[in-house]
Amino acid sequence: MRIHIYIGLLLSFLLLSSCGENKRNGDKPFFQTRGILLAWNDVSNPDVIDWIVKMKENGLNTISVSGYDYQSEAYAEMKQKFVDNGLDFVYEEHAMPWLLPRKLFESHPEYFRMDKEGVRRPDFNGCPSNREAHAIVYENAKKLGKANAPTNHKYYFWLYDGGEKCYCNECRDLNDADQGLLFENTIIKALKEIDPQAQLAHLAYDKTTPAPSRIKPEKDIFLEFAPFYRRWDIPLSVREARREGVEWSHGEYLDMLEANLNIFPAETAQILEYWLDVSLVSGWQKPQKKLDFNKEVFLDDLKTYANYGIRNISCYGAWIDDYYVNTYKDISFVNDYGQGLYNFKK
Ligand SMILES: [Zn+2]
Repeated sequence: MRIHIYIGLLLSFLLLSSCGENKRNGDKPFFQTRGILLAWNDVSNPDVIDWIVKMKENGLNTISVSGYDYQSEAYAEMKQKFVDNGLDFVYEEHAMPWLLPRKLFESHPEYFRMDKEGVRRPDFNGCPSNREAHAIVYENAKKLGKANAPTNHKYYFWLYDGGEKCYCNECRDLNDADQGLLFENTIIKALKEIDPQAQLAHLAYDKTTPAPSRIKPEKDIFLEFAPFYRRWDIPLSVREARREGVEWSHGEYLDMLEANLNIFPAETAQILEYWLDVSLVSGWQKPQKKLDFNKEVFLDDLKTYANYGIRNISCYGAWIDDYYVNTYKDISFVNDYGQGLYNFKK
């Protein structure tokens, strides 16, 4: 008898939880990743700006913090606080100098890229046609993955920050995104060894913004599209808009996004934006300039991205720190950003 009561209670509990679950699913925000990328100084003075509170109050759920020793105790403590508060913590970093250390150039110049004049150079992304270079990248990716494990299985080991591709005989007909993918296809295999659920970002940014032309991504490589050369005072949907002196108009950016989405799945694709990037508006020079956040542009951009089926959005907010708060007082744009993402309805 008692057992039946227990079973009855258990069944009611399961039923209630599943109703609750369904209700919660129904209310789930359209955008799944609602992220922000900050710098160490931004998070190191919570008395002035407490990012954990700020994120939770405004529906942000994912953070990356750069600009400090990732292996230090202080960094681990800071990470743990975010994790304990239920926030996802990821590492987004140009990782090629760790994956293919430059010091190998002296003994193995063939691991590195060939410039247009046929000279090997220890810069940028190496030669993706060199098998031994891949073996080194593979081992280092495992080490880097173990040392910097994200909480959500999403790895952002970006290749070099811009730069030139390899022009050796085997590489020269591949575009920059193809060359990046060759290395990324190795990195994802390495990460799967340490984390079977691993996913890896393919950063479409600068020269890798155009879609890959020949190389196909391995499973679980997702698009991370960063329209770095766009304007933020005009929505991306205004196709003819173009930043002065820039190769691509907004329309061309959207065409490149679409071309990438023909190769990478839209459901896992992520946007890396700059609406809140104080470091960018300050020309990466401190003291910081005031951010002129345009809420209408931001909300219009969300519609644009959602129309492509994109459900993951992250944005640089670097240099929103105690100096910024004390000087300019108002950081309500963080609330606008978080709530705009959280409350978005398609
Ligand atoms: Zn090459």
